[in-house]
Amino acid sequence: MNTRYTDAYLKAAHKATFHNEHEITRSSLCTCFYCGHCFDPREEPDLQWWDEQSTEGMTLVCPECGIDCVIGDASGYPVTDDAFITACSDEWFCGISRISASKTSRKNQGIIT
Ligand SMILES: [Zn+2]
Repeated sequence: MNTRYTDAYLKAAHKATFHNEHEITRSSLCTCFYCGHCFDPREEPDLQWWDEQSTEGMTLVCPECGIDCVIGDASGYPVTDDAFITACSDEWFCGISRISASKTSRKNQGIIT
């Protein structure tokens, strides 16, 4: 059970993963909420975008896992906060993601509860 971030906050954060072209290009750090990949978008040579026809802006695809759930720090969300990333991953993927899988294995080892 996550206590630091409300469901409404996490749902709002999910919106920041879509049509996020303008935020991503202003960010120096982006995090993928499926695989946990953290990167500087200006140093990634082959960024892939979806929704190229959208007037709201394109949607960035994670260069690591190919899923469209990347948030940049310019969005204002705490993209480097482990608790936030884990909470989002649980909320959006119902615990079925690379992040949740690694958390489960850590839990099994008794490292986190
Ligand atoms: Zn990823």
